[in-house]
Amino acid sequence: MAITEQCKAAMIKQGVLTVELEDGSVVPAGMALMNKDVLRIALVEGDGEGAYPVGFYTDDFGRFIDDDNDYFQSLVLGNGGEFPDGMEDSVRRAIVFWTDSDVEFVSIDDDPDINVFAFETDGNLPVISLGRASFPDNNSDNDRYASYGGDVAYVGINVGLIGLPGYSDVVLNGGSFNDAIEDFLKHEFGHNFGVIHPRDAGEDLRANMDAGKEANKDIQSVCTGVDIDDLQAYFINATMSVDSSAPNEVRRMSEYDSRAIDYLKTGVPPNAVKP
Ligand SMILES: [Zn+2]
Repeated sequence: MAITEQCKAAMIKQGVLTVELEDGSVVPAGMALMNKDVLRIALVEGDGEGAYPVGFYTDDFGRFIDDDNDYFQSLVLGNGGEFPDGMEDSVRRAIVFWTDSDVEFVSIDDDPDINVFAFETDGNLPVISLGRASFPDNNSDNDRYASYGGDVAYVGINVGLIGLPGYSDVVLNGGSFNDAIEDFLKHEFGHNFGVIHPRDAGEDLRANMDAGKEANKDIQSVCTGVDIDDLQAYFINATMSVDSSAPNEVRRMSEYDSRAIDYLKTGVPPNAVKP
């Protein structure tokens, strides 16, 4: 059976982290950030010897780079890099994908909402991390996604991969990393707004259904009879998906993306569209 509208709506809701407000209402965790009139963004680079500006390493930043096994930290610390020309334009175009907030570029000590920093690896690591983003504080029951909290969101971009053709298959739209940086920023900003990988949500659902587990039961009940491959196909071109069946195509906004954005902006959970 093809994926139903009820199932699509449930999966979109599952793909957005939520937070409970003092009045007991539950809203998307990134809603406040998403609805700011002006998003203040700091672009943070290394000093040529890999050091970040004084004051950049805060407790918040320390929590963000801590992945429990020191791997991400080892990629980042002492490896501050430099963004390519046009980075501000790339950031603006990536933000516009999610929200029509104005963007103002500020320095790290001028109260940024999001810090976008460059780190640089030599491309010879066994596992290449393209980048990483923080998620907003949330109380969604989803232990796959840690919440870093804090008042500042982070996006780390591995500029060491720019221009390495060997890695073209791991960037979102193929080609060189430089071409893909806008798509990549779109993806990471999505995490800042509390959107998780829909592909992972699909994998979780598949695993739970296969194992006969109760988890995601609300979704399982509306996705009963849906071919799991159809479900995965619904996500495959979403910006938050982590791979693509068509790596050489620049992604356009998918139905999944636009419905998730609507939910983030309004706080109104997606409902099934009547046929
Ligand atoms: Zn991601």
